[in-house]
Amino acid sequence: MRKKIIAANWKMNMTIAEAASFLEDFLLELGGEDHADVVIVPSFIAIPKVSELLNSVPGVKLGAQNMHWESSGAFTGEVSAPMLRELFVRYVVLGHSERRQYFGETDEIVNRKTKAALAASLTPIVCVGETLAQRESGQVEMVLEQQLRGSLADLNKAQLEDLVLAYEPVWAIGTGHTATPAQAQEAHAFILSVLTKLSSAATANKIRIQYGGSVKPGNTAELMAQPDIDGALVGGASLEARAFAEIVRNAVKQLP
Ligand code: PEP
Repeated sequence: MRKKIIAANWKMNMTIAEAASFLEDFLLELGGEDHADVVIVPSFIAIPKVSELLNSVPGVKLGAQNMHWESSGAFTGEVSAPMLRELFVRYVVLGHSERRQYFGETDEIVNRKTKAALAASLTPIVCVGETLAQRESGQVEMVLEQQLRGSLADLNKAQLEDLVLAYEPVWAIGTGHTATPAQAQEAHAFILSVLTKLSSAATANKIRIQYGGSVKPGNTAELMAQPDIDGALVGGASLEARAFAEIVRNAVKQLP
């Protein structure tokens, strides 16, 4: 069984002081119980402080929201994989729909970044997902397959096994409209079938696929009970320590 992995994508929220106060509350709320793997994904500015505070916390890792594919050079405003590594960052979210929509990221760019992250021993969390218009016109599978083939182009089996995927239907992000467990499971099963085509069933079965889109404490357990849902990428609900701790706990709760 793949261990569940829950990531908190804070987007452009949380000052350094707010991040520190969140972590104090979150770690207290979480306690020592058995829970899913956790990744905190703050803004670049808050990464050094979060890194320091998570230094001796087992099971809670640090992520970044983006990176450039080059390791250094004349790319004003960008941050590279070695810079993230220096701060003990372990994961990097790539191809989030907000980056695709507002910053023109294409599958080719996501592919370059994914390769650079893997080369630097960072675990990419590669996001894919359809818009509402694409879902309503029956294009879900076509869009997902295109994004997966483009974003993961030329990766070998070992590289594929080192990444995490996130299925994030754009219509569910920040809207309060969560995909139903059945809708999410259907998309995850399809993603798994594409990963199998790109590699093998054995490789595909090692890749964790998160669901993202209005995940809350109340809908986590049912979503995570689906056979091909291996975790969650959480936006809004990850900004509140108690709610996020509940999500992390509910992710491994057996449904009655
Ligand atoms: C996200 O930012 O990836 C996300 C899923 O946001 P939210 O949980 O707010 O829908």
